Amino acid sequence: MNWLLPRVLAAALAALVGGLIGGMVVQWSAPLLGVLLGVAAALGVIAVRDTLRGYRLIEWLRGSQEGPAPRDAGLWGELGYRVERAIRGREQGAALERERLSQFLSAIEASPNGVMLLDAGDQIEWCNSLAADHFGLDPQRDRRQRVTNLVRAPAFVGYLQAGRFSDAVLIPDPRGQRTLSVLVRDYGDDLKLVLSQDITERERSDGMRRDFVANVSHEIRTPLTVLAGFIETLVNLPLTDVERKRVLTLMTQQADRMATLVSDLLTLSQLEGSPRPHTDRWIALAPLLAQVQADARVLSARRHTLVFPSDIEVQIAGTQTELLSAITNLVNNAVRYTPEGGRVELTWKQLADGAGEIAVSDTGLGIAREHLPRLTERFYRVDGSRSRDTGGTGLGLAIVKHVVQRHGGELVIESELGRGSTFRLVFPAARVRCVTEVRELLADTRL
Ligand code: ADP
Repeated sequence: MNWLLPRVLAAALAALVGGLIGGMVVQWSAPLLGVLLGVAAALGVIAVRDTLRGYRLIEWLRGSQEGPAPRDAGLWGELGYRVERAIRGREQGAALERERLSQFLSAIEASPNGVMLLDAGDQIEWCNSLAADHFGLDPQRDRRQRVTNLVRAPAFVGYLQAGRFSDAVLIPDPRGQRTLSVLVRDYGDDLKLVLSQDITERERSDGMRRDFVANVSHEIRTPLTVLAGFIETLVNLPLTDVERKRVLTLMTQQADRMATLVSDLLTLSQLEGSPRPHTDRWIALAPLLAQVQADARVLSARRHTLVFPSDIEVQIAGTQTELLSAITNLVNNAVRYTPEGGRVELTWKQLADGAGEIAVSDTGLGIAREHLPRLTERFYRVDGSRSRDTGGTGLGLAIVKHVVQRHGGELVIESELGRGSTFRLVFPAARVRCVTEVRELLADTRL
């Protein structure tokens, strides 16, 4: 307001000077008219100057207001300054809001769920890229489209129309490859938030768990039923000593079968629950193979030719019980699925890249190609009755695969129906070392 007094004084002074000059110029005819004309001329000059300054300010306001407002003194200077400050303040506020909105959208973008916002007419306002992926949408192109025109799964359309959103609805994705769990929440003024989650993996593991429980129950029920039958026979029928002995032998077989199954199940659950095998605990292969060979001899009962390597000076970093279980499973399978007179051979080979390979080959029944990819699934058997007759649980290869993967390696299966099979356990170089290398290392450190 410090321009007000100078401005009033300047106007008064201008009017005074204008009046004096006007009065002096026309004093001989009409001095009063001269004064009035002088004052009017002075005020007119002030008005023209104000108009020009006001025009400059309005021109600036009409434009993009990028540069500073016109820097005038007095009334127009303050007006320009205050208008510019108000505009800049509003611009800063808008930029801050935009920044907040973009941070908020980035946070939703990072959400592990698909998020979609619908307006009152179920038109898409916005969706994050995960929701776009789930529903096969284009976030830009499909904006303001009615969602039910694009997501046509009948369960979803019915769910949205029914308006009861307490539970999620399960729908297939547009490609039919995944299962989505979709949940809608109302918010604001008849707006909707659609949350989607890919639950394919969860469904699959739930299904696997259900199958597993069903399989285990079935595997246990079969010997239990047989045992119950034998017990009934023993109780109700007068048996001779020979018959009784035979029944008891068969009962022992069933009990053994259950014990093997439970032991394999425990092994699997231990494998799943325990930490990865140590990389610095070195297990000598030779004594391990001696034990496997002794077990195989008992199982084969001289019906097969068993060939095992001698003098293997190799160590594998890992867990002894797991390695023993994996190799025993492979050798026992080779014996069980190879008819009498066949040959079972175990070899050790160090590969060019330092990795180590234990291969168990047999000249047995072999496996048809179509079964190979599923062999390591739990309870998968090519020939169920043969597996059970020879004491199999259907869990052996699942255990082998688990063990070798935990040791950073892989199980490779080659087989030809009627000719035999080779199962290879390949361990990475970091987990394999020769005993001679160790001796050299020790000698070096002693020097
Ligand atoms: P099982 O206890 O039934 O032997 P595994 O998981 O060890 O279960 O093996 C799965 C299936 O793979 C077996 O049922 C059998 O049909 C087949 N199989 C495993 N090893 C051999 C082999 N050496 N020769 C032929 N078939 C085999």
